[in-house]
Amino acid sequence: MKELINKYDFKFKKKFGQNFLKDNNILSNIVTKSEVDKDTLVIEIGVGAASLTTLLSVSSKNVLAYEIDKELKPIIDETLKDKNNVEVKYQDFLDSNPKEDIKKYNYKKLYVVANLPYYITTPIIEKIINDKLGVDKIVIMVQKEVGDRFNAKVGSKEYNSLTIFLNYYFEINKLMNVSRNSFIPAPNVDSVVVEMKKRNKSYNVNNEELFFKLVRDSFQYKRKNLRNNLKNYNLENIEKILKKIGKDLTVRAESLTIEDFVEISNSL
Ligand code: SAM
Repeated sequence: MKELINKYDFKFKKKFGQNFLKDNNILSNIVTKSEVDKDTLVIEIGVGAASLTTLLSVSSKNVLAYEIDKELKPIIDETLKDKNNVEVKYQDFLDSNPKEDIKKYNYKKLYVVANLPYYITTPIIEKIINDKLGVDKIVIMVQKEVGDRFNAKVGSKEYNSLTIFLNYYFEINKLMNVSRNSFIPAPNVDSVVVEMKKRNKSYNVNNEELFFKLVRDSFQYKRKNLRNNLKNYNLENIEKILKKIGKDLTVRAESLTIEDFVEISNSL
């Protein structure tokens, strides 16, 4: 990779979160642990110098990849010249239409595997979910502090509305820690690789829009309790549900489980 970066005089761009993985063990571990196989279509976001893309192409049926930086094209073309199951789209993933792009592929499983640009981690995950692509599994490298929020335990300081949003759809596990020294250039944070597997059984929510609004509003002001954050809601109904779990309106959102929020939202 270094050779190609020098050959094409590529300059890393901070604004695109360009920290490329240089550690081959970590790259192959990501692919092994993601359990990509010949029935899998992989969506990769952020190709970089195509190190992860190359390994993914060997293990998967097809790779559909998005890269915002066209200046990487000569490096990517050279790295992937013998790979005929990879399509790279040079565009901003956030403006892309993956639902349309995956239509031409035949596959049994759809995975997202990526070393994400950290400046847009949450919008990317939200897009993957909101586009309803039918993703079976997401394996992503994210900044450690962000990854800690994904599977934070109820009551901890990392637990927030994003935790609930993600755990509503996925079972989340940390796969490995990755030191900042595994990248060029080295970022000033450490990273984790997180796996999110689509839940087999979904929660019984009557109205998803209302559920997610309730969760967001409950966490709006971290220091405030539910009575204050949910002023515009039917507090009588909410109080009844809280009573059943031995709590009242002075509780803070971080003490409530997904199941508690499901019950509250279904009572509204
Ligand atoms: N996958 C490579 C690796 O593991 O070495 C590169 C990872 S690097 C952290 C993130 C990559 O995402 C960069 O190549 C960057 O140019 C690209 N990127 C940044 N913003 C993007 C966006 N909005 N859409 C698509 N790619 C983006």
